[in-house]
Amino acid sequence: MTVTPSALPGTVRDVYSTVEKRNPHEPEFLQAVHEVLESIAPVLDRYPQFVDGGILERLVEPERQILFRVPWVDDAGRLQVNRGYRVQFSSVLGPYKGGLRFHPSVNLSIIKFLGFEQIFKNALTGQGIGGAKGGSDFDPHGRSDAEAMRFCQSFMNELYRHLGEHTDVPAGDIGVGAREIGYLFGQYRKITNRHESGMFTGKGVQWGGAEVRTEATGYGAVFFAQQMLAVHSTSLDGLRVGVSGSGNVAIYAIEKAWQLGATPVTASDSSGYVVDHDGIDVDLLRHVKEVQRARIREYAAQRPSARFVEGRRPWDVPVDIAIPAATQNELDLDDAHALIANGVRAVSEGANMPSTPGAVAAFQRAGVLFGPGKAANAGGVATSALEMSQNAARQKWSFDDSERRLRSIMANVHDAAFDAAERYGHPGDYVIGANSAGFERVAHAMLAQGV
Ligand code: GLU
Repeated sequence: MTVTPSALPGTVRDVYSTVEKRNPHEPEFLQAVHEVLESIAPVLDRYPQFVDGGILERLVEPERQILFRVPWVDDAGRLQVNRGYRVQFSSVLGPYKGGLRFHPSVNLSIIKFLGFEQIFKNALTGQGIGGAKGGSDFDPHGRSDAEAMRFCQSFMNELYRHLGEHTDVPAGDIGVGAREIGYLFGQYRKITNRHESGMFTGKGVQWGGAEVRTEATGYGAVFFAQQMLAVHSTSLDGLRVGVSGSGNVAIYAIEKAWQLGATPVTASDSSGYVVDHDGIDVDLLRHVKEVQRARIREYAAQRPSARFVEGRRPWDVPVDIAIPAATQNELDLDDAHALIANGVRAVSEGANMPSTPGAVAAFQRAGVLFGPGKAANAGGVATSALEMSQNAARQKWSFDDSERRLRSIMANVHDAAFDAAERYGHPGDYVIGANSAGFERVAHAMLAQGV
C-alpha cells in the first residue's frame, strides 16, 4: 500500500512526514494516519488552537507501546515463543480500550493502525473510553484448548501489570473469542487476587459479560446501514446484502439483516466465499464455523442452494448493500468497481479499514453511501462500554434493553458523523464526518487537560 504525502493539505503534511520517517516499515499504520489527516484540515482551520496545541503531533505517537515475549509449551512438549503487543494510544477520554487480535499476520504496524483507529471510533461512541489495541502473532486455529490456555496464561503473565478497570480494558478481536477471553480473564484474576470484572469486556454472560456484546459489532454495522438509507427515505426491506467474513461480526450482521427484512447472500473466509441464493442460513453458518470449526466450503456442502467459490472474495456477487466484515484491505479498487457496476447502494464497514483508499474514493465518486469502520463498526466497543458500566454498578441489563441502547448509540454515531460532514461543507461524506467528529472530541479534551 503506497500513500502519497503530496495529496495532503499543507497544514498536516509536516506531521505526516514525521510519522513516515519515524515509522518507515508500518504501511497499515501510515495508511490509517493518512486517512485521518487528509480529512481533518477543515477542523484545524476552524480551531487554530488545535494546531498551536500540537494536538496532531501528540496524537500520532502512542502514549505507551508494550512489546513482550510470550513463551509457552505446546501439546507435543515443544517450547514455542510468540510476540505480544499492547499499544496504549490515548487515555484522554477514558481508560485505554480496544481488543486483542491473535493472528499470524499481527505485527506492530497492524496493532498501531488498529489502536489509532480506536481513538476516534471510541470518541464517536460518546462513552468515555480511550484508544488501544493489542495482540500476538499466535494462531489459535487448530490449537487445542490446553494449548490456547497455556498461551493465554503466558500472555497475561506479562500484560496484567499494564491492565486494570481504570487503566486499560481489553476485549476480543480476530482470533480472540469466548475461549481466549475466559483464559485471559482467569489468569488476571489469579495473578492479582482480584475479581475485577471491568478489566476485560466480552466476558461470558454467566460471569460478568453483557447481553448483546457478542452480537453488537455485526448488529451495529447493519443499524448503521439502516441509518444511512433512512436519510434517503429507504429501508433494508427486500434488499440483497453481501457480507464477507464468517466470524462474529459477519454472523451477526447476517442475523440482523434477516431480521430487518433483507436477504444476506454471501459469507467468506480466507479460502473463498459461499453464495446462497436462498439467503445465508445463519444457524448452519454458525454450526460450521463455531461447532465444526471448519472452512466455509463445508457450508455449501450442507446447503443445496449454496455454491462455494474457491480463492475469491464475494464482491462480484450483485448486492444492494455490502458489509465487509473480514479484515483490513480486503476490498480493493477492482472489487469496488464490480460492486458499483452491479448497483451497490451502500457499504457499511464491519471490519476495521476493510476498504483500500482507492476503493473508498471510487464508492464516494459513484455516490454510494459509504460508512467507514470507525463509525459503522463502533457498536462492538460501545457495548463493551455498556458492559463496563454494568460491572461497575453490579447490574445486568436484559437483551432487549441492551439492544435498545446499542441502537440508540448507533443512531448517535451516525448523526455525529452526518452533522460534522455537513458543518464542514462535505454533506453525505461519512469519512470526513466520522474523522472530524471523533477528532474534535479528542482534541478538545487534550487541550483542556494540558500537555
Ligand atoms: N475489537 C473491537 C473493535 O475493533 C472491539 C474492541 C472492544 O470492545 O474493546 O472495535
